[in-house]
Amino acid sequence: MKKNLSDVELDTYARQVVLSDIGYDGQLALRNASVCLIGLGGLGSQLAPRMVGMGIGRLRMVDRDIVSRSDLHRQTLYDVDTVGRPKVEVAFERLGRLNPDVELTPFAASLTPSNAEAVIGDAGVVLDGLDTPEARYIVNRVCHRRGIPYVFGAAIETFGSVSTLIPGQSMCLECFMPGFRNEDLPKCGVVGVHPAVLGIVTGIQVSEAVRLLLGKEPALINKLLQIDLREMAFETIELKARKSCTVCGSESAEGEDAPPPRWIEETCARDGKRNVIISPLEPIEVPLEKLHQALLKKNDTIKAAGSFGITFESKEGITLCMLNSGTLIAQIPPHLDTVQKEALLERYADLLVGEMGFSPDIIPKT
Ligand SMILES: [Zn+2]
Repeated sequence: MKKNLSDVELDTYARQVVLSDIGYDGQLALRNASVCLIGLGGLGSQLAPRMVGMGIGRLRMVDRDIVSRSDLHRQTLYDVDTVGRPKVEVAFERLGRLNPDVELTPFAASLTPSNAEAVIGDAGVVLDGLDTPEARYIVNRVCHRRGIPYVFGAAIETFGSVSTLIPGQSMCLECFMPGFRNEDLPKCGVVGVHPAVLGIVTGIQVSEAVRLLLGKEPALINKLLQIDLREMAFETIELKARKSCTVCGSESAEGEDAPPPRWIEETCARDGKRNVIISPLEPIEVPLEKLHQALLKKNDTIKAAGSFGITFESKEGITLCMLNSGTLIAQIPPHLDTVQKEALLERYADLLVGEMGFSPDIIPKT
């Protein structure tokens, strides 16, 4: 726990120390704070540099994706040289250079019910950088159980939403958007997303997170801010906790209606390729050097080997990335569209169980 700001810190954060909303004590509170950011895509790649640049003490971050060309117009942490690499790995390098004084704890993994507690860890605030309701429900439930404020943010097309959810003081996510499956909502790969709306949503999320970390009242408790850039409309809707909410409601047992976890998931197509993600049933740690040797033996082409995962191309032309958490991302080009999830799962088991010696119990079933 820091008691004072150093001379270097006073220089680094000079514009925040003179800002009446933050000041010396506020900056010190930020330096002692821990934040968890879930997702390093359109929202996360703007949230992360803001929080790190502002000098929070610790940032925990999780993402399961690799950089695609179609991300670059809005995901400002990445560039053409990083296409194909795990986002967490690139973010870890960039953020470390932006502010070496912030302790970064990266997780290259899909957020699942079995790792969510460990990922969120000691965070004082959780920031939403997600793009699916089911993953948000996992976050909402952990935050509710542990009493951690959760700054919800979402954007699609030219629309955005933000709300600050504080267990015991406000509604939770499932009070106002319960019961969605991932396929129920439009996807940015289909309808698109305007980069400008991401800047607005994330700016408001950062403002809310900083208020929380400084012990100030957030502006969006029990309020849902809805942004529509087409009409240039900003509307705040007052909402309340629902007694019948399956997560926080007094008239309902917790845990009811939790969506079944998706261990095999097809997400938005990337760069014209289908994108399938497979996660292990239990948290594992894949030794990447051993994986590298196994891939060479299989005559796969290694595209990028980093400290968080290895991206490679199979003989048939499927781009795959195995993250060190055992999450596998497969990008299937259109001419291989007949490749089924079963075949990918077989490949996944062959690598992790056959080559790496993990227990068959970690392999999900179709
Ligand atoms: Zn609720």
